[in-house]
Amino acid sequence: MLYKRSSALFAEAQKVIPGGVNSPVRAFKAVGGTPIFVKEAKGAYLYDEDDNRLIDYIASWGPLILGHAYEPVVEAVIEKAKKGTSFGMPTAIETEIAELAVSLVPNIDKIRFVNSGTEACMSAVRLARGYTKKDKIIKFAGCYHGHSDSFLIQAGSGAVTFGAPNSPGVTQGTAKDTLLASYNDLDNVKELIQVNKGEIAAIIIEPVAGNMGCIVPKEGFLEGLRSLCDAHGILLIFDEVMTGFRLALGGAQELLNIKADIVCFGKVIGGGLPVGAFAANNEIMDYLAPNGPVYQAGTLSGNPLAMSAGLAMLSALKNKPEVFSSLSKKAAYLHEGISKVLTKEGIEHRINRLGSMISVHFTNRDVVDFDSAASGNNPIFNTYFHGMLKEGVYLPPSAFESYFLNDALSFEDIDFTIKALEKIAPTLKK
Ligand code: PMP
Repeated sequence: MLYKRSSALFAEAQKVIPGGVNSPVRAFKAVGGTPIFVKEAKGAYLYDEDDNRLIDYIASWGPLILGHAYEPVVEAVIEKAKKGTSFGMPTAIETEIAELAVSLVPNIDKIRFVNSGTEACMSAVRLARGYTKKDKIIKFAGCYHGHSDSFLIQAGSGAVTFGAPNSPGVTQGTAKDTLLASYNDLDNVKELIQVNKGEIAAIIIEPVAGNMGCIVPKEGFLEGLRSLCDAHGILLIFDEVMTGFRLALGGAQELLNIKADIVCFGKVIGGGLPVGAFAANNEIMDYLAPNGPVYQAGTLSGNPLAMSAGLAMLSALKNKPEVFSSLSKKAAYLHEGISKVLTKEGIEHRINRLGSMISVHFTNRDVVDFDSAASGNNPIFNTYFHGMLKEGVYLPPSAFESYFLNDALSFEDIDFTIKALEKIAPTLKK
């Protein structure tokens, strides 16, 4: 596979864009080599600038659950664009998508749309602080909630991939209000609550983590957080930017049957356009401006193109609820296939999976938190990533990311992927 044009485009981009990219993980810095410049995509496939075809296991980091250039979404955006691209005034479609989202997601009465997952989480925390009149939050090492200052404390995803989980530029004043806990460790959370009694506004968590690979909550962990929050007047924020409308129509709340107080969305809810949202019951949401004192706003929030893409996506999922179990079956098939090949070759590994989120870790430790996830961030992962890429399979270019399966992916594509792994597996031995 040749990357001649991608290399040339990357060289040009680096002259005018920091690192040549507009979001760090895209730069392939962790795995080395030249990032792929994509020309177009359809269904399960990416076509790059060198005319290579790649099976895509990322789907724009999650949003494209029904595959690339999904017709109803594309049509909706085209039709909407002809009527104007932004007004900064209320439009009927905002209520339409809000009504649909509220009907699909458990435990929410109202939803506010923003432009990214970062904004959603940042605003949710401000709302929680305003509502509880407390300042501190608890987050989990390796969880990523966007690049807002208070979240860049032992953050996952690109922040850890590039060795900056605690970014310069975040003031000590901000950092001191973010308390750090270990994922899947309830005692650790209890301790933090004891030491900071009466000061904690919220616990924010990815209910299924996807930013240190995929990490599934242990039985009782989220339930334990719920009880602690109830006992101490703390709001539980589920960051469902990845899991929302992906693990189930009602997200992780529905799949795992746990109630959150505030839920954050991004990715699928925007159908591939820049959308985020946060939602809660009436009492909490009415604490937001213009009804309440907590300020939050956005010139392009509720943008008609973004809303039309999101509405088309959520409507399609509502009409096709079997998509979630179908994706889960495909993920299980992939899991089994990868596991068989690696086991046969004698390569130590762990595979984590829930629904259509899956990750492969080259380690002999069970991957349950950030430390164990970090043990799989090693040269074998890089060989695996580049080997698969050469065979035409596009996987996340970092050990700290989850794969996101999409509905356009066929069992034949997955067989192709497993065969690719068979070919490259001998190269993974130390
Ligand atoms: N929360 C989670 C769980 C995420 O995975 C991400 C992005 N990957 C974000 C928040 C931030 O979203 P965005 O990149 O749209 O700002």
